Amino acid sequence: MMPRQIAPFKPNLDLLPGGCLVSSLSRQIYFANKFFLHEFGFDPNHLIGRKLETIFSPASRIFYDSYLHPMLLHEGQCREANIVIQTGQGARMPAVANAQVYDGTDPYVIWCITQSENRNKIYEDLVTAREEIKAYADKMETLALTDTLTGLPNRRSFEANAQRDLHSADRTGQPISFVMIDIDHFKSINDSFGHAAGDQVLSTFGRNLRATARKSEVSARFGGEEFVCCLLGADQYGAGAFARRVHLAARSVAQIGMPVTVSIGIVTRQPASDLDLEACVELADAALYHAKANGRNQTILNTQTAFEICP
Ligand code: GH3
Ligand code: MG
Ligand code: MG
Repeated sequence: MMPRQIAPFKPNLDLLPGGCLVSSLSRQIYFANKFFLHEFGFDPNHLIGRKLETIFSPASRIFYDSYLHPMLLHEGQCREANIVIQTGQGARMPAVANAQVYDGTDPYVIWCITQSENRNKIYEDLVTAREEIKAYADKMETLALTDTLTGLPNRRSFEANAQRDLHSADRTGQPISFVMIDIDHFKSINDSFGHAAGDQVLSTFGRNLRATARKSEVSARFGGEEFVCCLLGADQYGAGAFARRVHLAARSVAQIGMPVTVSIGIVTRQPASDLDLEACVELADAALYHAKANGRNQTILNTQTAFEICP
């Protein structure tokens, strides 16, 4: 007979996606949910009222008598016991059992019993799902930090990496240079050759710029036709040499049949300076503005006291 406390929950137990048994402490089976009956091939008419251990294999019966039952009596529960169920058709089916004793005037035991194979399958599915979610999250993270047209890091990614380089420059006592690059007359490239050709110029220049910088140096698309590089360890001469290579990288963009030129602004920050990242970018941008005003296709260094043309 089903314990009075459990009876109202019978429909809910039938909905569980796992095997569930209710037995008395004296081992009599009161109830088996639909999942259990189906999973282990029992007919409820032949199961209810039977002694619990009769559905175990002979070895599991010994295990039940000598270990499981005493444990339930002493500790009121057992977790993750491996047993073998002798199914309604007489087959042997390895299973994992968890049991909990509920005390009261009429103590009873609720058992959760799952086929081991299913449990492994569920575990494998979980691991696969977790790996897929991780791969998806990594992909989204990369996409969020990458400019789709050029494949370069975007401004957000630049800021995170340049901040890291700035700390590193202070820690190691190195200079660090910021280089702002803007394609000259890009609007007229779009106007004359079309937006798609403009896109191609951007993506080719982006590729060339990446090849110009060292692997450890951050080059990014800052926005529109503006790019930015952060050169850890580079003083103004190192940055000037880098800028010369960037001018060549622009000139070698062949899409529109005429050389593409860029204007470049540089600032070099000395170690332990109190300039933060935003200030460095602004100073490099001010130098870039001067390069434009001075006729484009050149590099200007912002010494913070003057603007000097870089050879
Ligand atoms: P300057 O030499 O002074 O820099 O002139 P400019 O024409 O290069 O600069 P301006 O700021 O006047 O125009 C920049 C243009 O870049 C305008 C905008 O439509 C275009 N642009 C921005 N992003 C993209 C893009 O992703 N693809 C294309 N094809 N054009 C873009
Ligand atoms: Mg421009
Ligand atoms: Mg611009």
